[in-house]
Amino acid sequence: MTAYERCRVLLRFADLMERHADEIAALESWDGGKPLEQTARAEVPMATRCMRYYAGWADKIHGLVVPADGPHHVQVLHELIGVAGQIIPWNFPLLMFAWKVGPALACGNAVVLKTAEQTPLSALYVASLLHEAGLPDGVLKVVPGFGPTAGGALASHMGVDKLAFTGSTGTGKIILELSARSNLKPVTLELGGKSPFIVMDDADVDQAVELAHQALFFNQGQCCCAGSRTFVHERVYDEFVEKSKARAERRVVGDPFKKGVEQGPQIDGQQFKKILGYVKSGVDGGATLVTGGDRVGSRGFYVQPTVFADVQDEMKIAQEEIFGPIQSILKFREVGEVVRRANATHYGLAAGVFTTSLDTANTLARALRVGSVWVNCYDVFDAAIPFGGYKMSGIGREKGAYSLRNYLQTKAVVTPLNDPAWL
Ligand code: NAD
Repeated sequence: MTAYERCRVLLRFADLMERHADEIAALESWDGGKPLEQTARAEVPMATRCMRYYAGWADKIHGLVVPADGPHHVQVLHELIGVAGQIIPWNFPLLMFAWKVGPALACGNAVVLKTAEQTPLSALYVASLLHEAGLPDGVLKVVPGFGPTAGGALASHMGVDKLAFTGSTGTGKIILELSARSNLKPVTLELGGKSPFIVMDDADVDQAVELAHQALFFNQGQCCCAGSRTFVHERVYDEFVEKSKARAERRVVGDPFKKGVEQGPQIDGQQFKKILGYVKSGVDGGATLVTGGDRVGSRGFYVQPTVFADVQDEMKIAQEEIFGPIQSILKFREVGEVVRRANATHYGLAAGVFTTSLDTANTLARALRVGSVWVNCYDVFDAAIPFGGYKMSGIGREKGAYSLRNYLQTKAVVTPLNDPAWL
């Protein structure tokens, strides 16, 4: 296919996704428990935007000519990599499909994508739309299957030329090992996080409370970049805790298909139990349980929006990824101190900074060892903005022009210039 044809297929696909936005959003809620109105519906335009963004790149990917010392004409070609294996998680099935499939196809690759066990529906459905948009048979295969078997086969397959993975850090390590033991396919990893959300004392407390709330509770707290360590300056700490409690208690939990619901069930029983285990660990470890901490009702995997205050850095709830609606609030006094504490984790995915001082914002943005810093905002995921982690939060970047690097090979072609006198 020519680059322009690939561009047109991706554009037609985006149009089809728009036309079928209701079905896609409903599948996403049905499969993963996302509130239809507030979360699943909003993710469809993000996915279509991502596809259009990469459609725009398809016919603008080209190599270059570089100057050589000797009498040589040197071309650098950017070629497709081949077959891309992609393994995605259950927390954002549609968006992860878009972030991974968009750049891979724009660059001309074939894709085998494995969905998470819990959430195969939206990817299977939109793959049929992509086919309808004109993608030739076999260029994209969606394989629902279990991690160690289907995912493992993909990561260790000699015919797979590249592997992109989003999920837990533990599984990311296994993927790297499988690549090393097979064909050394290049691997990009988007893994977990324990992201700090830092509230300075010059901030508007009401706005900070709302943003910190959204940063943690969005998508039932099941976000790799959830603002899961809320650091609050001691001068506004008590007011912040009190208002965060009130906000969490106002959060509407229930049937994801009901209007006004902000929080649906957790993905499955295993995650549900794990989250309640973290609540117990917070209480046992001496944190103050300000609100929540239990299940909602007696059916389904609904967890009360929970707030812990007086959380200390060494507590398990401040160290490990909970992936649930559990907010941990920590007190700090100085900028230097909060930088040290915020960076004292193996993760480095994202951070939020809430302040009215440009100076403080710039200082924190430069000092935090993370792949994304949101200043006075959170979870902004435009297609053009690169996303990925420092440290054990990952390898490589997705989105933006950066993702194209994941799906291209670089070839140098050198030809002698027999009569350099002309140059
Ligand atoms: P996971 O990493 O086990 O699963 C993610 C994907 O990897 C799924 O498609 C899964 O089938 C696949 N997988 C699992 N084992 C594999 C293997 N051995 N080889 C190849 N592929 C494999 O994550 P999970 O079990 O669904 O969730 C566990 C924890 O991971 C969560 O509590 C959360 O902390 C974290 N998580 C992070 C993200 C993220 O976006 N960073 C997403 C989901 C889960």
